[in-house]
Amino acid sequence: MAEKEMENIISLAKRRGFVFQGSDIYGGMAGMYDFGPYGVELLNNLKRAWWKEHVQRREDFVGLDSSIFKDPRVWEASGHTSGFSDPLSECKNCNTRIRVDKELEKIGVAADEKMSEEEINALFEEHKDKIKCPSCGKKDFSLARAFNLLVKTNMGNFAGEDAEVVYLPGEASQGIYLNFKNIVDSTRAKVPFGIAQIGKAFRNEISPRNFLFRTRELEQADTQYFVRPNENKEKYEEIKRDRFNWYVKMGIREENLRWKQHDNLVFYASDAWDIEYNFPSYGFDELEGIHDRTDYDLSQHSKFSGVDLSYVDPQTGEKYIPWILETSVGLGRMFLAFLSDAYTEDEIGGEKRTVLKLSKELAPIKVAVFPLLKNKPDLVAKAREVFDMLKEDMMCEFDDNGNIGKRYRRQDEIGTPHCVTIDFDTLEDDTVTVRDRDTGEQERVKITELVNHLR
Ligand code: ATP
Repeated sequence: MAEKEMENIISLAKRRGFVFQGSDIYGGMAGMYDFGPYGVELLNNLKRAWWKEHVQRREDFVGLDSSIFKDPRVWEASGHTSGFSDPLSECKNCNTRIRVDKELEKIGVAADEKMSEEEINALFEEHKDKIKCPSCGKKDFSLARAFNLLVKTNMGNFAGEDAEVVYLPGEASQGIYLNFKNIVDSTRAKVPFGIAQIGKAFRNEISPRNFLFRTRELEQADTQYFVRPNENKEKYEEIKRDRFNWYVKMGIREENLRWKQHDNLVFYASDAWDIEYNFPSYGFDELEGIHDRTDYDLSQHSKFSGVDLSYVDPQTGEKYIPWILETSVGLGRMFLAFLSDAYTEDEIGGEKRTVLKLSKELAPIKVAVFPLLKNKPDLVAKAREVFDMLKEDMMCEFDDNGNIGKRYRRQDEIGTPHCVTIDFDTLEDDTVTVRDRDTGEQERVKITELVNHLR
């Protein structure tokens, strides 16, 4: 099989209505993408599967959906207004902006996220002759300066000076810290326990790139697990293991995943690991971050809000600020990893095809229903009847357009696990043909048993 190319995956995503460039008809907006009809199904299925794992199946987890806008002091407490920045430099020839730490990384030089401007410039200076402008190829850059990633806007009824400056969230997880006390006070949650949330985040990324990998608007699925101080190590290992295994369980090939430990930790973190995915054409890169954050977040918000966020153990009366173990993944990156892993070019019945081998749980459409012929009213009516029955249970599609082979190919490309064909035998014996996406094998199934069979 030919090596997978990201270009082919992006092209399928657009051709089949999974992902479109944001503001496409206006020429496209950098770092923005819209999920089309099949894309939104896949995205929702990913969210549902993640939620099921972290909320539905867990007695020690609760869910949350916090507001996008927060008191601006939240971002001071979290360190985002001062420290959430990337080192930016500009090509003196064509003004293309580069992210210096990522360019250094590409040539094998590790740059610490928290380096000062002087430190990063010293490193940049040392290796400048190896870094080319991605647009014009020249090697003449300005000094790097810290570029804050928070997106600012105004809120309030008064235009101009009176309007309050507010920030779009740089990460979704802050909402969890802000609600820790609310949740402890209003539910039966007791440490150790976790809060899960899926929320939007916005980052003024210097160079949004690689399709869904780095965007300026993103959605993050986060869990924050609260433990007693110093009782983090074992749980951290368990959480790491669970997150890695979840990807494998959901269908990602294990050889396309690997661990990477952060060398340079931010001062409060006691450990940080990434799960990396082997993206076609781009190679291994961060998919999800798993961080051991000590008591930093709740301590900072206690300090800045003036509200004590200590936890009191109801049994022992012990009072402490819980430590936090965090998992955070961008859903766009997750989407891209699953799409890439499922993308397959193979041959079936001597014919070349493209097929998305998504798990049944993730596939946008679970079953497609075809009348064998479009111009036979009896077949069409029967197929409609089957479609109307199935659609109550699962996402279905009705298709009577083109020959059956073409309809199969169309469904293969969007990853539909089963196609059901209504033919002349159906009118006699109430059975249909069910075709399997991966093997192409077909079997006859009674209409009355169809729902169970497909499940
Ligand atoms: P990077 O080093 O790639 O900029 P990060 O270390 O800043 O990422 P975190 O702040 O830890 O990332 O965010 C957690 C997760 O959110 C990442 O693992 C990734 O899946 C996702 N993520 C972060 N930034 C983006 C982005 N610009 N576009 C898409 N997903 C993102």
